[in-house]
Amino acid sequence: MPPAAISGECELKVKVNFSIDYKMQRKGLKDILLLGDPRLYENCEPVLESELELVPLWVADLAQAMQEIREQYQFGRGIAAPQLGIMKRLIYIDLGQPRIILNPEMYDLSPEMFEIWDDCMSFPNLLVRVERHQSLTLKYRDENWHRQEWKAEGAESELIQHEVDHLNGVLCTMRALDDKSFRWVGR
Ligand SMILES: [Zn+2]
Repeated sequence: MPPAAISGECELKVKVNFSIDYKMQRKGLKDILLLGDPRLYENCEPVLESELELVPLWVADLAQAMQEIREQYQFGRGIAAPQLGIMKRLIYIDLGQPRIILNPEMYDLSPEMFEIWDDCMSFPNLLVRVERHQSLTLKYRDENWHRQEWKAEGAESELIQHEVDHLNGVLCTMRALDDKSFRWVGR
């Protein structure tokens, strides 16, 4: 057998075993990093094109965690990879249609701002009053490495700003308007 074929076969086995191991370690709500965890304050690394085959595995974990949050706390529209300790510039948003966002960049941030009570899966009982840009344009790569553009306003705009902040190690607690901009909610 030529050496190339042998090495190809070995590589395939390694990949298959890796996937099985990964499935056995599926992440969910129990793995969400909570307020104060130092990893939530770190800057995340870009997703590389060579890592695209890992993206569905990461997204499966993010989707699972979001579903469990929705069941337990009745909120959750987006989650950023670092919230599960995956230190990559990856966001999963589901507003009826799932959207996988790799290496996002925000443009055209409007000078108009608006205030909201923001929530976060990393501190599900705490609301934080913050100010966000009314509209923006998000440029990113999708799960097929295609370039995408998303013009967002209002609720979508603030969600994107919240999730991109996570990739830069910024939590909405760090954007509180003042020291009374926190509200504890039982849910
Ligand atoms: Zn959050």
